[in-house]
Amino acid sequence: MPKTYEDPPKELTDLIAEARRRFHPVLERCEVTIAALLEADIDKDTGEVMHSLKANGYPAAAMVKATNLKERSLGLADALMLVDRRWWEDHPNVEERLALVDHELTHLQVCADPGGIVWWNANEREVAGKPKADDRGRPKLKLQHHDFQIGGFIDVARRHKQRAVEVQQVEMLQNDLGQWAWDFIHELAPAAE
Ligand SMILES: [Zn+2]
Repeated sequence: MPKTYEDPPKELTDLIAEARRRFHPVLERCEVTIAALLEADIDKDTGEVMHSLKANGYPAAAMVKATNLKERSLGLADALMLVDRRWWEDHPNVEERLALVDHELTHLQVCADPGGIVWWNANEREVAGKPKADDRGRPKLKLQHHDFQIGGFIDVARRHKQRAVEVQQVEMLQNDLGQWAWDFIHELAPAAE
């Protein structure tokens, strides 16, 4: 089952540009460049496109990493996004694809000089902080972890119920009625358009 890498479809490249422009003003203003590849595992007998990407051992739809100085010196972009081709083909909805790309870009933060990260000042509608550059003059990046990460075992949840972290993590995201605790429409509006 050989792994293959393919150039990104134009739609993916366009969505990266759109997500950077609409949701990530810091990446946009600091001109952080993001290259992308589709990764797949092709069954050598049937030719079937299978899931390939894994993050920490679990299937992943996409992942992103900051490139290092050597890679950048060879002409690579500031960050590289890998998208699982199977996921991409199974999710033709452009809004879902945009959400995935937005997720990956949210992992990317621009380091500030002398410390911390560059951030978007929504009140003044401008970027705050001085971007830290590498020896090539490209912005140094660090990866932001997820706000939440849920992992668990169904058997443990069944055995221990509310005492299990599995159940507690899920309940944390729900209100008393068992609905999502977030008001998606009002609280999670895009930071910038
Ligand atoms: Zn992620």
